[in-house]
Amino acid sequence: MGWIILGDHSDNRMISKYAPDLAKIRFYVWLNQFHWLPITVLAVLLLLLGGVSLVLWAIAFRVVLGHHATWLVNSATHMWGTRRFATRDDSRNTWWVALITFGEGWHNNHHAHPTSARHGLAWYEFDQSWIQIRILKLLGLAKSIHTVTVDSALAEQEV
Ligand SMILES: [Zn+2]
Repeated sequence: MGWIILGDHSDNRMISKYAPDLAKIRFYVWLNQFHWLPITVLAVLLLLLGGVSLVLWAIAFRVVLGHHATWLVNSATHMWGTRRFATRDDSRNTWWVALITFGEGWHNNHHAHPTSARHGLAWYEFDQSWIQIRILKLLGLAKSIHTVTVDSALAEQEV
């Protein structure tokens, strides 16, 4: 909560450090600086179109649901589920959290391999975000994607 309320979300130096390719695109730098503007414009349009009720469902409900799903990853997946990798934390893979968080519930996989774009490592670990990244790759919009597989990750762990 403190990060959301007090954090500086428009620090473009942070983008340069973690996503240097995005920092070169003026639109994303602008969007990082004025992240509040698109949702404010949308809220005003929705208010004019459908009143307060539409704003509450389309803006407030959606944001609250998104935040709670995100926070569920860092609470539920540190309490319930299975551990494939012997990480130094208590992260776990929790299938039902993965279903409602687009694959983020494969949290033990993520903690063990944080730079992997793919969190659901086994065929039965449904990872909607990974499917979307693959589609972006097919369209030529994503490249240089880092992933691990169960076999390579487990082999790495045993070394
Ligand atoms: Zn975690």
